[in-house]
Amino acid sequence: MNSIYSYQATEFAHFLADFSVKEEVSLDFYRNIFGEKKKRSFQLSEEAQKSIETHFNLELPEIDSLQKSSDGTIKFLLKFKDGKKVEAVALNFHKNYTLCLSSQVGCAMKCDFCLTATQGLERNLKAHEIVSQYIRVMRYLHEQDISKKKPNIVFMGQGEPLHNFDNLKQALMILRDRSGLDLAGDKITISTSGYLPGIKRLNELPAVNMAFSLHSVREEVRTKLIPLNKSYPWKECLSELAKNNPSIKKILNIEYLLLAGVNDSLEDAQLLARELEGFDYFINLIPFNPFAGNPYQRPSDQAVEEFRKKLVSLKVRTMVRTTKGDDILAACGQLKSKEI
Ligand code: SF4
Repeated sequence: MNSIYSYQATEFAHFLADFSVKEEVSLDFYRNIFGEKKKRSFQLSEEAQKSIETHFNLELPEIDSLQKSSDGTIKFLLKFKDGKKVEAVALNFHKNYTLCLSSQVGCAMKCDFCLTATQGLERNLKAHEIVSQYIRVMRYLHEQDISKKKPNIVFMGQGEPLHNFDNLKQALMILRDRSGLDLAGDKITISTSGYLPGIKRLNELPAVNMAFSLHSVREEVRTKLIPLNKSYPWKECLSELAKNNPSIKKILNIEYLLLAGVNDSLEDAQLLARELEGFDYFINLIPFNPFAGNPYQRPSDQAVEEFRKKLVSLKVRTMVRTTKGDDILAACGQLKSKEI
């Protein structure tokens, strides 16, 4: 039986057309399943109802456990049918939520600063599993009366999204489908560590924002932090990304994790501005959140501010991104499929 969450609204309506169900009724029924509308009083024939039950699986992942941070962040450990677990995080920015979703169980990219990397890659998530994370978390936020607004979505959870390209693509089509969930492209951000084969296919995706995890323009430093840099050097990735950027505004979001004594000197800032000349970009500076067993440290607030000011003096558009959920390991690079 196929999961209903692997279908776009119009595909579902085509299926029900065989049972003489009008398209508008099918679309309402679909949106209702996806939690987008209050239950309406429409009736499907017994035959159509039965057929839905026989053909579609409506199951969502189980909430295995959840943890709430003092800043309102909620981290969910979600369990799929085969027992595999991923984390999804709801981040609260003044009552506007951003959902951080996973694309894989674990990750193959071995980034040196990342907790997920220690897990290795267990498997790709299917498109319906990516979509059902969204539905599961939103349903919780609705039920608990926390938020009913459409959230932003960032693919910065477990996994390298472009390493699971086909499932990501299908999930994005479902999330963006105007007859279904209808999430705007500028509300969705895909973050990549630089998986070039995926970057080369970006023009296959519907319009969404892209973020590139750079962290250093010094080859040896970046390769130590993100070993993928050896096969796919950042310059090649950025040039390709600038060509195929699927975002509406075409500005590249560059993520720069600040690690004390590694990439946070004023020379690093200068080099960064110089090397990125010619690109249209915005830099998000992210002070690292240390965790047990990892050698990296967070720079002092003063060092972060000096780095930011240096970039601004070099006419770079930048801001320091507030980290959320530090106390429950829900921040960037801190997700793992373990009990919480
Ligand atoms: S930072 Fe992202 S790409 Fe790198 S290992 Fe962690 S989850 Fe994978």
